[in-house]
Amino acid sequence: MRAHINETARHSHSLWVSERFGPTFQGEGPSAGRQAVFVRLLSCNLDCGRGEGAAWSCDTPYTWDWDRFDRKAEGRRVPVRDLVSWILDRRVELMVITGGEPLLQQRRLVDLVVQVLAEGRRVEIETNGTVVPLSDLCRANVTFNVSPKLSASGVATSRRVVDEPLRVFGRLARAGGAVFKFVVTCQAELDEVARLVDAHALAPVWIMPAGTDADVVLRRARELAEPVLARGWHLTPRLHTLLWGDARGR
Ligand code: SF4
Repeated sequence: MRAHINETARHSHSLWVSERFGPTFQGEGPSAGRQAVFVRLLSCNLDCGRGEGAAWSCDTPYTWDWDRFDRKAEGRRVPVRDLVSWILDRRVELMVITGGEPLLQQRRLVDLVVQVLAEGRRVEIETNGTVVPLSDLCRANVTFNVSPKLSASGVATSRRVVDEPLRVFGRLARAGGAVFKFVVTCQAELDEVARLVDAHALAPVWIMPAGTDADVVLRRARELAEPVLARGWHLTPRLHTLLWGDARGR
């Protein structure tokens, strides 16, 4: 069961938040190693790891899996103005909005993003690439880290690969506003990435080893390094996992 996210005007000045933390390091993608503050939003429209044949599981099930977690304990509605002042109090250039799937609340996210940008900050929004982003979010100094899921997620293809959002993100990427990041467990999955990349003209591509413990991430990164180089793609660590394992709030 997933959270019901109310996008009505009555709640237009608050967001359903799972957790906020930082300064810490952005652990993934082109900004890996940069200082950042994180706002993690509640709810997701996918359920990675639950389907048959899944090779890895979502590392933030507490944002959406209400069979295993208590929604009331895991999330609360936070006024946008509180989030803005919390972010600005932390003197860090980069704000990362993550989830869950943050674009499920995107109408209410616009306010937060606009106010943070106005203070000279930079924003990254992490998304699974299944929701078309509002044009109001596609601004200078906003980058979408788009992570389409592979069959190893155990999610049906029709739910995890959606043409229209991928087309929009592909166009954004060509203008420098998006990158694509694929969670991979082994070298064999790179062919599936290549098929998706070719079918939807996705670039630039970052490959990220799946795993919530440092030994697994490092072993997979070593296995993937040469094949990723050979395909002309980039490799990202999960820096937070290498440093802190699966600790929350890092
Ligand atoms: S899309 Fe991301 S947050 Fe949603 S279930 Fe998959 S891994 Fe978890």
